[in-house]
Amino acid sequence: MGSTLRTNDASTPFKVLVVGGSYCGLAAAFNLSDLCTGKAARAAASYQGQEGLPQKNPPICAEITMVDERDGFYHVIGSPLVFADRPYAEKAWIPYSEIPSLQAASNMKTVHGSVTSVDMAGKTAVIQESALAGGATRTVDFDFIIVTTGLRRVFPVVPQSGDKAAYLAEVSPHIEAVSTAQDGVLVVGGGAVGIEMAAELKVAQPHIRVTLAHSRSRLMSSEPLPDHVAEKTLEILKTNGVEVLLNHRLQETRELDGEGNGPNAKEVVFTNGHTMRVNAVVVAISQSKPSTDFLPVEAVNDEGYVKIQPNLFFSTDVPNYDSALAAGDGVQWSGIKRCGRAMHQGYFAAHNCHQRMQELTFGTPATYQNLKEVIPMIAIALGPDALAYADGGELQYGKDIAKVFFSDDVGLKICEKILGFGRNIEVKA
Ligand SMILES: Cc1cc2nc3c(=O)[nH]c(=O)nc-3n(C[C@H](O)[C@H](O)[C@H](O)COP(=O)(O)OP(=O)(O)OC[C@H]3O[C@@H](n4cnc5c(N)ncnc54)[C@H](O)[C@@H]3O)c2cc1C
Repeated sequence: MGSTLRTNDASTPFKVLVVGGSYCGLAAAFNLSDLCTGKAARAAASYQGQEGLPQKNPPICAEITMVDERDGFYHVIGSPLVFADRPYAEKAWIPYSEIPSLQAASNMKTVHGSVTSVDMAGKTAVIQESALAGGATRTVDFDFIIVTTGLRRVFPVVPQSGDKAAYLAEVSPHIEAVSTAQDGVLVVGGGAVGIEMAAELKVAQPHIRVTLAHSRSRLMSSEPLPDHVAEKTLEILKTNGVEVLLNHRLQETRELDGEGNGPNAKEVVFTNGHTMRVNAVVVAISQSKPSTDFLPVEAVNDEGYVKIQPNLFFSTDVPNYDSALAAGDGVQWSGIKRCGRAMHQGYFAAHNCHQRMQELTFGTPATYQNLKEVIPMIAIALGPDALAYADGGELQYGKDIAKVFFSDDVGLKICEKILGFGRNIEVKA
């Protein structure tokens, strides 16, 4: 990456476009904001002793614009409880306008909208503002772009709304349906998402019969995790009152509206011939795909994941690759997709972007943080319990593990604290 000295003052700030404002985008934007104001990055405290992470930095003038289709931070990890518990749903979406440290950062602003295309040769992006933000379409130029747009996931794995009021209107009927399901709820899909949805529903609505059906003989059958992890998960689910049907592939759901059938009565039919009555069927099969349609085709692989170098810059066949970084669930990198991984990558993207800014401004050679290969690891919230495992290590589970990884709110306050929202919260451990 060659460098040309560039003027940087209040009239010529680096324009940084962060696309996506979830775990990774907020980590990238906040840490970059810190670094550009001459402070240590807020994430640095967790990386003490690691080489190459400076505590002090020369200030750099930057305008960081974070664009998201949502008008706030939505705690994706909490989705299983969001869809079961209205008071929790209220807490799990925090409008950006209510995040004090975002409002206080003079070099940051947010745009409620969608990035619809990016021209890497011209270093411009098209932003379609949400209707609530005015609905305008405009083209903006950038010096750096940081892509953190994660995965598109279907309802009811995550809500599809773009603002908090619409979100609450979207999740409320679902919560009503599962909390009044006299004949019970069927959750379809025994991957991590379905497991968490069944477990959290049973905790939030203990009077409801909750059944989890999975088409394969083992839970989490598509994750690179050993059998004993899946077996312990199954055991904990059952202990907590979730009924589990393995080798059950859903074939059909029939509405039962004859006499004697209550509202929303349904019969579900499995391909093995088993049938059962329920009032709600929750399809918890994520079918996720990267949200990267706006990027040029050479920037992504066949599945749509952004091709990155270990330092998170785009691959070298993309024009101006040294002005573009990507991080989080939407990149091609090893490891199970997790929010800790997303926040870590967001921080490294901020660090490396700032290094490149210094190189361009002062001629200081950039010292990049490089991603390492990530072994399979997972922490799953199972209602009052949790289970944590890293490849080859000890399997940890129980209520204490739930406190460490998720506190008392499926990790909401833990993530908020790591990201540094600046609200007055106390994490119960
Ligand atoms: C139900 C569920 C449970 C989970 N449980 C856990 C768990 O227990 N532990 C764990 O570690 N991980 C868990 N995960 C995974 C975790 O949620 C992800 O790893 C994490 O959300 C990744 O963060 P991210 O910022 O990379 O992407 P995302 O959270 O997907 O965020 C991407 C953001 O980009 C925005 N966006 C997308 N496209 C555009 C565009 N074109 N323009 C503007 N904005 C755009 C979206 O609105 C979104 O805000 C779970 C996931 C799900 C679905």
